[in-house]
Amino acid sequence: MSGRVDGKVALISGAARGQGEAEARLFVKEGAKVVISDILVEQGQKVAADIVRQGGQATFVKLDVTKEADWQDAVDTTVRTYGKLNILVNNAGIFRMEGVEATSLELWNQVIAINQTGTWLGMKYGVPAMRKAGGGSIINISSGAGIIGTGMAAAYHGTKGAVRILTKTAAIEYAKDNIRINSVHPGVIDTEMVTGLLAEEGGRAIVQAHPLGRVGTVDDIAYGVLYLASDESSFVTGSELIIDGGFTAH
Ligand code: NAD
Repeated sequence: MSGRVDGKVALISGAARGQGEAEARLFVKEGAKVVISDILVEQGQKVAADIVRQGGQATFVKLDVTKEADWQDAVDTTVRTYGKLNILVNNAGIFRMEGVEATSLELWNQVIAINQTGTWLGMKYGVPAMRKAGGGSIINISSGAGIIGTGMAAAYHGTKGAVRILTKTAAIEYAKDNIRINSVHPGVIDTEMVTGLLAEEGGRAIVQAHPLGRVGTVDDIAYGVLYLASDESSFVTGSELIIDGGFTAH
């Protein structure tokens, strides 16, 4: 039986845990070779080793998405190890709750560096390798926070909105190279990023803000990302895939 991304090579940022890890495991299950990258070295290495133990092909590379040299190294490692790059998931991100006045300049710059600059750098270094491969698919993980406001998390919303529109302009720029670029907009997903939030008093309200009556799982997102990564979505570029249980439908 053939997999949905058979023979493809993927690089995923922030894949040591959470959604990135789920995407890595699903891609491998569907026939891809995967480079898992993160600043969490030990955790990322464990995920890669576990995939290999189960018969899949995966390797880990340390990647701080704010660092140009790390991106160059991650792309080089991918091509050296598996011969090409077909899929890039710009998934690494951080969430901060602070509103406009409570956000320090340092915090603002940190969130922008990881969520926004990191996504741009991923495309900047991923595109040349994909061009050599004859094309590819880039999936930028934005958020429901890139579609609507919530009255908090100013820097986070700013960066996720930026990722949404950056995706669209890059999609137009690289269509000629057969590189498709789309954004994914998860609702609240049960990962370490939000365990604190969900445990707090407001946790119930967060669940209720999702018309389907629950927060999302990592697999809810991974299946959407898999679709965009695969050739099933060969006519899809510059689009935004909302996977949020209706959170932004209000
Ligand atoms: P997570 O915190 O479990 O995973 C994020 C990963 O990014 C971690 O492994 C972390 O080490 C890594 N990371 C952080 N800074 C990095 C850096 N400088 N370089 C490389 N890696 C770095 O959370 P998650 O829910 O799996 O988040 C994945 C993506 O989904 C993020 O972009 C996040 O903003 C987005 N998202 C999450 C939710 C949610 O509710 N969990 C909702 C919408 C969007």
